[in-house]
Amino acid sequence: MPTDQTFVIVGASLAGAKAAETLRGEGFDGRVILIGAEAQRPYERPPLSKDYLRRETTDKPYVHDEGFYDENDIELRLSTQVESIDPSASQVVLAGGERIGFDRLLLTTGAEPRRLDVPGGDLDGILYLREIADSDAIADRIDAGGKLVTIGAGWIGAEVAASARTKGCDVTVLERSALPLERVLGPELGAIYRDIHADHGVKLLADTALESFEGSRAVESVRTADGRSIDADFVVVGVGVAPRTQLAEAAGLELRNGVVTTERLETSVPGIFAAGDVANALHPLYGEHIRIEHWANALNQGPAAAHNMLGQQAPYDKIPYFFSDQYDVGMEYAGYATEWDEVVFRGDVEAREFIAFWVTGGRVVAGMNVNVWDVIDQIQAIIRSGDMVDPVRLADQDVPLEELVPTVDEAERR
Ligand SMILES: Cc1cc2nc3c(=O)[nH]c(=O)nc-3n(C[C@H](O)[C@H](O)[C@H](O)COP(=O)(O)OP(=O)(O)OC[C@H]3O[C@@H](n4cnc5c(N)ncnc54)[C@H](O)[C@@H]3O)c2cc1C
Repeated sequence: MPTDQTFVIVGASLAGAKAAETLRGEGFDGRVILIGAEAQRPYERPPLSKDYLRRETTDKPYVHDEGFYDENDIELRLSTQVESIDPSASQVVLAGGERIGFDRLLLTTGAEPRRLDVPGGDLDGILYLREIADSDAIADRIDAGGKLVTIGAGWIGAEVAASARTKGCDVTVLERSALPLERVLGPELGAIYRDIHADHGVKLLADTALESFEGSRAVESVRTADGRSIDADFVVVGVGVAPRTQLAEAAGLELRNGVVTTERLETSVPGIFAAGDVANALHPLYGEHIRIEHWANALNQGPAAAHNMLGQQAPYDKIPYFFSDQYDVGMEYAGYATEWDEVVFRGDVEAREFIAFWVTGGRVVAGMNVNVWDVIDQIQAIIRSGDMVDPVRLADQDVPLEELVPTVDEAERR
């Protein structure tokens, strides 16, 4: 790559920072400009609903040391909003009008919380969680104690509920579905998470829709569609995120549930790439576009995008992976299951030390280890193999997982 090239990354996020790191690691010695709207240098978000929220650590979860960007000659421009992209001129336009030309552009603009449009939705004390400042604000409320209602029992709602409960708050969770985390995990695992929260004293109002928030200036109660009123000193809303596609849309990039990319993470405009929460990437293993809103995807797609920006052929084919920690229950999930025939359990479900496998047509499409560790590589290998599995052997703890994974020779023969 000639040294006079400029690669611009919009979104000083995990994906953006890892892409910049990879560009330098690969020996690219042109300009690397990493632009972010937030005041903080790139950081990781998972601790914001876990140990950082509980103030078990005051360390901010930065991706890199402060000196990293200067040392690697990465021009980090924080508190800087990119207003638009001009693809025909190959320029980005900053708030204030400055234009920066690019030879390659990477969009890592991530996602933002969906906002509730209900009566009382702008009362004081109704909080959303995405950034460090949001986590600090919620931590202040948790430390003050009192009654928390979370709207939604997805990952954010469930993790905030667990953290607040651990710190002694009275917690009610309002959920439209019958079970927490049901949309992703299905009813079998949703029921396990319902019980975990119940054991810790969280009140779950399932199958319950939100009607409004009530209070004179600050929220005082949450009204449900079936007419109940729940006292609240503060509320955390976790009803999902939406990909930040405004820039891409105005620039005419193809959109469909995020910014559509090839398996090399290139968008419909050659030379412009996308990675992380915002990217709806063609996945070679699944043969369809999937958009993943998880940490590992940002961590790994950033570098993959950087390789492709450098002209390398680096299709992104990692199996989706995420993790969650609630109370003393840690889990990892690998795979992509939108429908399945059965869930096969291996281990002790009662003791919450088990692996669950989602099986479709005799093949494992996803797996989740709960308080069982060092098995995620084997789970991913089973999924990637696409082999038929015997559910009895899958469930039998005496059959080592390795025996269910095809050997390298077998895999190569396919
Ligand atoms: C509280 C919380 C807990 C989480 N916990 C987990 C977990 O346990 N496990 C897991 O797998 N995942 C978890 N996630 C999800 C994970 O953090 C995200 O998938 C990841 O942050 C996505 O990274 P990203 O690089 O795509 O973008 P983001 O982290 O969304 O960052 C995008 C950045 O781009 C900036 N930006 C956007 N538009 C512009 C613009 N026009 N100009 C300049 N800058 C712009 C934004 O300000 C932002 O800083 C959690 C997320 C949150 C919020």
